[in-house]
Amino acid sequence: MPRVLLLAATTGYQTRAFGDAAERLGVDLVYATDRCNVLDDPWQDRAIPVRFGDEAGSMTILDALRNRAVDGVLAVGDRPSVLAAQVSAALGLRWHSVDGATASRNKQMMRERLQAAGLPVPWFLPVPLSSNPRRLGVSFPCVVKPVGLSGSRGVMRANDADDLVAAFYRLRAILQSPDIRAERNADHGLVLVEGFIPGAEFAVEGILDEGVLHVLAVFDKPDPLDGPFFEETIYVTPSSVSRETERAMTDAVARAAEAIGLEHGPIHAECRVNGSVVYVLEVAARPIGGLCARALRFEGVGRPPISLEELLLRHALGESPADWTRETAASGAMMIPIPRRGVLRDVAGLDEARSVPGVFDVRITAKTDQVLVPLPEGASYLGFIFARAGTSTEVEHALRVAHARLAFAIDPEVPMLQSSNG
Ligand code: ADP
Repeated sequence: MPRVLLLAATTGYQTRAFGDAAERLGVDLVYATDRCNVLDDPWQDRAIPVRFGDEAGSMTILDALRNRAVDGVLAVGDRPSVLAAQVSAALGLRWHSVDGATASRNKQMMRERLQAAGLPVPWFLPVPLSSNPRRLGVSFPCVVKPVGLSGSRGVMRANDADDLVAAFYRLRAILQSPDIRAERNADHGLVLVEGFIPGAEFAVEGILDEGVLHVLAVFDKPDPLDGPFFEETIYVTPSSVSRETERAMTDAVARAAEAIGLEHGPIHAECRVNGSVVYVLEVAARPIGGLCARALRFEGVGRPPISLEELLLRHALGESPADWTRETAASGAMMIPIPRRGVLRDVAGLDEARSVPGVFDVRITAKTDQVLVPLPEGASYLGFIFARAGTSTEVEHALRVAHARLAFAIDPEVPMLQSSNG
């Protein structure tokens, strides 16, 4: 039985989807995860404990695998991507290089590599977190972002000097919060300030196979992402742009991936199209996040449709992705934004949302009584809506109608009562 090692930051839906795909394919899936985020043993699976912030210390993973030959490696999420590259290199398996995975997780290195390769990049200025934001001497509008976080966390637009100072201090508070300090990542001491690129935004999902990009999907992001924060909402594919623009985007992503040093495995890229110029904002060495992968299904000639997770497992075991293409139907997902900070008490309208034509699933991932934290501090969504239809316009409409049918009861957080001595 072939064996694949899966490094996963969370124990959520995507790891279960890999488990299902492995069962179908007859693959033995061995998990490695950062147990400090996990309270119990959700898989009861002998997962190998690692620390994604401590790659050198986590190479004990090789001891745990001593008597188990591994045929392929996969990583889910941004944090495990470098360890996955190190383990693959040690085991002699094909994967993104350690150097490429490291650069793709560091926004400063990514900008430097894209610039060195002659690709369009905004002006950028890396500065220490201890800098005085009044003395940066940058132009506006600009974007302030952490070098080492992901998921748009801590990313803020500033239109003038006062905005910049406020954003910088807000980002400093985020980077000095206990959960981020616990990662002990030196990148969290760095801030990147860069020019704001106006224009429509797109995501490109792909697999690099020995350096060659196989595009799996190009997504439109129909809600404008103009700031001050950059919360993802709707993703729909196929894209409504012309074939020419789509080609320009996928070419730019292939060149960017090469410049960053990514070679083999899944990638997820974000692009901005400004006139005829494509700016690749980032290429991550991982597949599309969590539940959103449910929006993708692939067809091979004479074979039943498969999930993204199955396609990635097949690739990890050496199969070419060229035999599979995304289904012909349009599909999409909505990451349900958190409208305001507070405690989630109730969600109404689920049945009504699920009954919207085209909608095939609505999942609320936030838990009742959970404190909801919106961007830029937060790192999660309320849940996800999925739709499939004849056209992307119909998919987008279905997602919006379903979202409008949901009602979230969110109470203000009760302030801690202080005991008084007077
Ligand atoms: P992350 O890795 O946290 O997602 P990104 O650098 O990709 O961070 O930024 C997240 C989002 O913020 C982007 O998808 C985009 O919408 C917006 N953004 C980031 N940088 C810029 C920029 N220079 N110009 C315009 N928008 C930007």
